[in-house]
Amino acid sequence: MLDILEALIGFDTTSHKSNMPLMEYIRDYLSGHGIAARLIPNEDGRKANLFATIGPAGDGGVILSGHTDVVPVTGQDWHSDPFRLSERDGRLYGRGTADMKGFIACVLAMVPEFLGAGLTRPLHLAFSYDEEIGCLGVHGITAFLRETGLRPKAAIIGEPTMMKVVNAHKGVCSVDTVITGSPAHSSAPDEGVNAIEAAIRLGGELMRLQERAKSEAGEAGKRFDPPWTTITIGRMKGGTARNIVPEHCRLEWSCRLIPGDDARRYVALLEDFAAAELLPAMRAVAPVADIRHEIVNNVPALMPQDGSPAEELVLALARRNETEAVSYGTEGGVFQQAGVPAVVCGPGDILQAHKADEFVSRQQLASCMAFLQRLADHMAR
Ligand SMILES: [Zn+2]
Repeated sequence: MLDILEALIGFDTTSHKSNMPLMEYIRDYLSGHGIAARLIPNEDGRKANLFATIGPAGDGGVILSGHTDVVPVTGQDWHSDPFRLSERDGRLYGRGTADMKGFIACVLAMVPEFLGAGLTRPLHLAFSYDEEIGCLGVHGITAFLRETGLRPKAAIIGEPTMMKVVNAHKGVCSVDTVITGSPAHSSAPDEGVNAIEAAIRLGGELMRLQERAKSEAGEAGKRFDPPWTTITIGRMKGGTARNIVPEHCRLEWSCRLIPGDDARRYVALLEDFAAAELLPAMRAVAPVADIRHEIVNNVPALMPQDGSPAEELVLALARRNETEAVSYGTEGGVFQQAGVPAVVCGPGDILQAHKADEFVSRQQLASCMAFLQRLADHMAR
């Protein structure tokens, strides 16, 4: 397993890069075990999902799901090469060790056990691209399930949960608000429309909407930390120089939504604010002035499902009595929307994900291996 993890970490699969070399490595590995894997490429063929089945074909069975891309290391202060696995004090460091090549390495290392177990139901491996930039790739996998008519009974998303069983998470919606003003010399600001000033006021309104989301959350937020929908302005880009009234500004913001909440509500409220408070004055100076909102992507929340076979199975395999809710998004909501009951359970801690010196402990990997062994035993029965 550690050899496989070392190989996986060695592929720099930061989301903007190709994941093909890594996928070819996995495909060759599976083929070495007599398993034919299918690559499902994206439009330009630079990236792909991988889908493979162990055991009998057909309906039912379980999907083991993981994403192969990782977040950038740019600007982070790493103490070792992020793309070379290194071990210190029982911790394995490298970009993606926790999120989530550790899980994929465990799954691949267990392939001989899965093959030897005599599975009576199909076990599917579904590895995606572009999860970190909005769960984009996984839609190719759910489309494949639809086309082939496969209806697995459960999907296990191996994101880092410290092997706890997560049956609910927030949704994530990313929005770009694009402001067009009109340029002018800074000595005559009234001759222009300042796009950054409009962005600041829109940002203020978003902060007000955040306070409102807090007070409205109620029961639906109870299991989450923080227990409400959060709105974050992550980036603001605009202007060219101190002495030019800026023509363009872009606010990149996102909502982490409690189940049942909808980002389109916040976009509509922001539109109302712009129409009432900003656009009339902006357009009086420059008719071209404009404020547009683009939903860049919308990752559905994972809703708890009563009597979910995924939940029942994974609680038993993980030897837990309780489910948890988390505030980060995963591909689980996409599988659930496609009709496959999903839960999240995987090695490592989300607190280490996306940071410098990301690691997964040996102990967590061992506990994931034991979990997968119990899955093999269960599916052979
Ligand atoms: Zn992840």
